[in-house]
Amino acid sequence: MEHATKFYIDGKWVEPASNATAHLINPATEEVFATIAMGSAEDVDKAVKAARRAFPAFSKSSVEERIHLLQKIEAIFLRREREIAETVTQEMGMPISLSTTGLLDWCKVHTAATIEILKNFQFAEKLGTTTVYKEPIGVVGLITPWNWPIGQIFTKILPALATGCTMVLKPSQLTPLDAIILAEIMDEAGVPAGVFNLVNGEGRVVGEAISQHPDIDMVSFTGSTRAGIQISKSAADTIKRVVSELGGKSANIILDDADFDTAIESAVANCFFINGQACDAGTRLLVPRTRLEEATKLAAAAANANVLGSPADPKTTLGPVMNANQFARVQELIQTGIDEGARLVAGGTGRPEGIEAGYYVKPTVFSDVKPGMTIYREEIFGPVLSITAYEDLDDAVRIANDTVYGLAAHITGKNMDTIRKLSRELRAGSVFVNSPDWDPKAPFGGYRESGNGRECGEYGFTEFLEIKAVVGHG
Ligand code: NAD
Repeated sequence: MEHATKFYIDGKWVEPASNATAHLINPATEEVFATIAMGSAEDVDKAVKAARRAFPAFSKSSVEERIHLLQKIEAIFLRREREIAETVTQEMGMPISLSTTGLLDWCKVHTAATIEILKNFQFAEKLGTTTVYKEPIGVVGLITPWNWPIGQIFTKILPALATGCTMVLKPSQLTPLDAIILAEIMDEAGVPAGVFNLVNGEGRVVGEAISQHPDIDMVSFTGSTRAGIQISKSAADTIKRVVSELGGKSANIILDDADFDTAIESAVANCFFINGQACDAGTRLLVPRTRLEEATKLAAAAANANVLGSPADPKTTLGPVMNANQFARVQELIQTGIDEGARLVAGGTGRPEGIEAGYYVKPTVFSDVKPGMTIYREEIFGPVLSITAYEDLDDAVRIANDTVYGLAAHITGKNMDTIRKLSRELRAGSVFVNSPDWDPKAPFGGYRESGNGRECGEYGFTEFLEIKAVVGHG
């Protein structure tokens, strides 16, 4: 790729300040397939200066100008979408059947929703004798993970552009290539120089420099709770706003009146989404005690029905996990599940049979998982489902809320009165009822250690805005 060893700063592809590089490894083959430049604090500083210079003009651009820009980005994205999907599949092993559908759709529906919201968004409102203005917060630092790579980037660049902020993006060092394509799209779309800047590199170097930079006004971060804590600490000295979308250990409650055949199949698919690496996945399946055996059998069968193989093959439903570290961690957690007495009913440790290379994990299901077990508590980030029995609805709520996280919860059942009541009891930022389609206008974010703030839709705009009260304005 032409721009892999460059950064996009001030509307140009530039040489990095140092000559540090890193190899990218295809998780399905364990082979090196590209080399990228790794940035430094100096590169970040250059990018921040460019973003700061661009801010006065861009923050005053009209809504019409910004809508026009978003429409141009949308059109170029559509031209390059297949290439983006293939790049993501190579970078992080997402099955091509998902990268060419759900991932691209995510970018498209969020762009369309952003344009629609922007058309009607009130950047000023009257309140008593005051006019309240909602103004772009300034230069924003965007730090994104590898698991939904371009998708996460879109949920940050869209509100930044829509509200008139300028930005410095640091994508995951494991998935930088789709971000480079995005920078090429921004360039071709005519995004003014300095409005969008891209610096690749390590979290503890480039991410840290962004978090600490005195001239960055806000950091929007998606990733692990571990990194979220560090970013919040680093940002504290300059009182930056930090919006953080972090990890989860979400419950999926199957009610007694659900159709178990379809409910359990879709619960397993939800847990194994993106090769078991979705932040809001229902990784703890909660079923009525009287239906535990039935649910266990169905879940094991659904897990075993997965097609493992090359993510580039359209038949593949489950690809590898991201890298060797992630593979080792998932193996260790599966072994811990066994050691702590959970009942292994599908999968287990070791590579799946017939697979010689790649970070593939056997689709794994544990039943009789008890509160307190490690696999009940910790985010695993691999295709591992835990099933826990509940006695009654109060018990289901108690178990669902028994976590330091609070990103999402899922409920499947028929009685909508019960579902509505239950959804109000759950301490989670999103409650998904009966596996709904994604709603790009719904706010997304977590309670507790799953983060602060909300992305997407109109709520997502507000994170990028400062509030100014002009009192006595009439
Ligand atoms: P990660 O935290 O390791 O990395 C995410 C990003 O942060 C990367 O760009 C990384 O380079 C950077 N980073 C790491 N340490 C940093 C530091 N000290 N300072 C600044 N930046 C730093 O996460 P990951 O492994 O890329 O992604 C998986 C995690 O992301 C999971 O925990 C998952 O639940 C979470 N996630 C959350 C959401 C959400 O919306 N809540 C969405 C997707 C993923």
